[in-house]
Amino acid sequence: MSQPRILIIEDERGLIQSLEWYFKREGYETIVATDGQEGLTKAQTLLPDLVLLDLMLPTMSGLEVCSQLRSFDKTKLIPIIMLTARAEESDEIEGLSVGADDYVTKPFSNKILLQRVRALLRRSEVQPENGDSIQHIGICIDRVRHQVTIHDELLELTPTEFRLLECLLRQPGRAFTRHQLMQASIGEGSIVLERTIDVHIKTLRKKIAVYLGEKEYIETVRGVGYRFRESSED
Ligand code: CA
Repeated sequence: MSQPRILIIEDERGLIQSLEWYFKREGYETIVATDGQEGLTKAQTLLPDLVLLDLMLPTMSGLEVCSQLRSFDKTKLIPIIMLTARAEESDEIEGLSVGADDYVTKPFSNKILLQRVRALLRRSEVQPENGDSIQHIGICIDRVRHQVTIHDELLELTPTEFRLLECLLRQPGRAFTRHQLMQASIGEGSIVLERTIDVHIKTLRKKIAVYLGEKEYIETVRGVGYRFRESSED
């Protein structure tokens, strides 16, 4: 990626200036939108490599922008980092469940944000290997088409959930630490909070439960992290 293009959707002037200055200095191309509708339009037309998305925006909320971006083919794989003003878990969970990959809570340091941006961009550069698919108890991950089906029904996953499930299903029964899951799903060198993984696991469990029932397929391993069930039997 020569000069990655970042779309900043934010309505606080001071923060926009600081982000633009910082990311330009670090070699990024920056585009700014100051309300939700403008942000959505610019994302769809300019196709940035990553979106920084404020939650509270005029004309259209960050959550709405996020779910719109996820529902269009051209924009559904663009990494999104939510900038949340309040340290309220409900906002973060909502943001991640509508498809954001990560979030930072204001006020944040530009340096930390940059590390998260780099981690997500590295992740999206990785190309899937050819012809690779993973199958386990009715779930099929097609890595070429970037699709997951359960008993032939298409499962709609965010890019992060996809990678998370892929990691777990490569070795059913093996427990992964939150750190390992973060590296696999969000990116090498990511320094996100471990709680972020818990939130992604929670939304992933809900989506799987729609097809496979309430049984816990992604098991919590106390003191370690998570593992996927080896079989559908008890
Ligand atoms: Ca705002």
